[in-house]
Amino acid sequence: MPNYGVPPLAISRGLGAKVWDVAGREYLDMFAGIAVSSLGHAHPALVQAVSAQVAKLAHTCNLLLHEPEVLLAERLLGLLGVPGRVFLANSGTEANECALKLALKYGKARGRGFLVAAENGFHGRTFGALALTGKPSIRDQFGPFGLDVRFVPYGDADALKEAVTEECAAVFLEPALGEGGVVPPPAGYLTAAREICDATGALLVADEIQSAIGRTGAWFAHQHEGFVPDVLTLAKGLGGGMPIGACIGVGEAGLLFDRGDHGSTFGGNPVSCAAALAVLDTVEAEGLLGRAVELGAQLASGIAAVEHPLLSGVRGRGLWLAATLTRPVAGAVQAAAQEAGFLVNAVQPDALRLAPALVISSAEVASFTDALPAILEGAR
Ligand SMILES: *Cc1c(COP(=O)(O)O)cnc(C)c1O
Repeated sequence: MPNYGVPPLAISRGLGAKVWDVAGREYLDMFAGIAVSSLGHAHPALVQAVSAQVAKLAHTCNLLLHEPEVLLAERLLGLLGVPGRVFLANSGTEANECALKLALKYGKARGRGFLVAAENGFHGRTFGALALTGKPSIRDQFGPFGLDVRFVPYGDADALKEAVTEECAAVFLEPALGEGGVVPPPAGYLTAAREICDATGALLVADEIQSAIGRTGAWFAHQHEGFVPDVLTLAKGLGGGMPIGACIGVGEAGLLFDRGDHGSTFGGNPVSCAAALAVLDTVEAEGLLGRAVELGAQLASGIAAVEHPLLSGVRGRGLWLAATLTRPVAGAVQAAAQEAGFLVNAVQPDALRLAPALVISSAEVASFTDALPAILEGAR
């Protein structure tokens, strides 16, 4: 269907932070399939885990239990450091559908009829997640959604305070707008959101589908702020390229569903769980949280040091950055970068998303920042 347009490139293989197109040309992959290929391409740990699991058991459905799903749920709760329960899905949007159903069930039992989400926020493309997505261009032509979702400007704690009353069931927020252009909120915003939810009894749902699993230098981006959400959704980098999503209910929020309230045939399948366990083990074994901090700082300072009339700055945290442009020419810069052998993502008309594999090397980061002036010049 024409929904993806015509992609600019066909890729045939990858290794580490590099990929090769069908003609054999090499590129440095600076966005890792939208922050998904956290270990890079063809990491031996992922190859081994997936191969061994598919050779042993590829599917059970959720009428039966298997070991990788139990280990993964326990591992995620251990990283979060709080008691909770985990529902495993296949994607980000499904993780958010689960969170939405938790929020609606919570609200219905308590006379809390509406939800709050952020303008320019992104939560997915299925019906419930789309209803929470604050981008009129991708949302409005498919509504109405039958949900009372109230949108507030992202980063404005006063607006959030005004919107979240005791009739609000839940607040859905990303730790920084991802699809919105890697836009971090002002300091203290997320902590204020936690306080507002505590004061009113609304659930705080942190959509960490893009921001978690080391991307910002912490397992979960909210850990930088020192609070815990009621519900946490994960996907993208968790599977390192294999499809998986997770919805974690912290404390009592993990006990809202009764038997039969939710389900998924493929959700938590053994192969994706084995992949996720390999990702978590490797992030730990290779010290990738620290590397995200270190190489993120190198990438950000390398971009900031470039002086070019098209470049206005750099924002974000860890290896989750956006280079911002003075004019809406991100598409042209993306094309010029590809021409020069670098894959970047024009996430907004005036912003390039950089979210490379956490295993990218310092020399590879330097090769990108060294090439950036000529890339920008090529887009003029
Ligand atoms: C990508 C993304 C989603 C949707 O995930 P899919 O796996 O594409 O369904 C939801 N929320 C955020 C913050 C995302 O970045």
